Amino acid sequence: MTTANGIRLVLFGPPGAGKGTQAQLLKESLGIEHVSSGDLFRHHLSNGTPLGELAQGYMNRGELVPDEVTIDMVIDRIDQISDADGFMLDGFPRNTNQAGALEAALRERGQRLDRVVHIQVEDGELIRRLSNRYVCRACQRPYARDAKTGAPPQKCAYCPDGGEIYQRDDDTEAAVANRLSVYHQETAPVLEFYRQRGLLADIPGEQPIDAVHHAVLRILDAAHAGAVSKS
Ligand code: ADP
Ligand code: ADP
Ligand code: ZN
Repeated sequence: MTTANGIRLVLFGPPGAGKGTQAQLLKESLGIEHVSSGDLFRHHLSNGTPLGELAQGYMNRGELVPDEVTIDMVIDRIDQISDADGFMLDGFPRNTNQAGALEAALRERGQRLDRVVHIQVEDGELIRRLSNRYVCRACQRPYARDAKTGAPPQKCAYCPDGGEIYQRDDDTEAAVANRLSVYHQETAPVLEFYRQRGLLADIPGEQPIDAVHHAVLRILDAAHAGAVSKS
């Protein structure tokens, strides 16, 4: 029986793997809601909320913001999404405690994840990508320097007034190095959590953006067919 339920997935991978890039493409092609914990924190930061103030120091150092505030922030956002829309999480969960809390919160709501898509990229390439990353302040879409000229983009191609392009405060060499070490120590164990649940799909991330997008779409087709046949 076919249900109107949207797909629920996690886009997983180290900083710079292309999660945000792929999320934008999936949002356009499938209309799934994008829930990025980093974007939520940056929103709090630019609005000067107490949560933003608390998060700022952790973010600038490339450390994880404490679970006590992070989990509630993300679950509150998920609660605003209708069953029919589905969601993709980007940047959450980042440790096994967050993964367990997410599983419990979804279970309470009679929901579960359909798939965890792991985009794999080596550290050297991640460092190159993050040092060349520019972001639209309005819509948070990631951009890169022009491969030929080395010039950053002038304005956002997707925002009506051409949103301002900037470099994130935490894409510095020191913060990036710390984010990668936090990824390997605290975040990578989440892969095993999802592997045990049969949810994990690995995708090579060092190929053109379009090729990664098509690989994700193929995995989601299979996941959704599975989700529907189980219902
Ligand atoms: P994440 O959300 O995982 O931290 P982003 O989507 O912000 O990663 O991508 C990081 C940087 O790498 C951005 O500048 C983006 O334009 C670039 N990028 C994303 N995917 C690819 C790819 N497949 N090949 C080359 N560069 C990419
Ligand atoms: P990237 O993918 O480039 O590492 P994000 O935008 O996902 O960047 O995250 C930026 C920062 O926000 C992280 O370095 C961390 O300080 C904080 N953050 C984002 N998501 C989480 C999370 N799930 N748990 C704890 N801290 C987080
Ligand atoms: Zn924009």
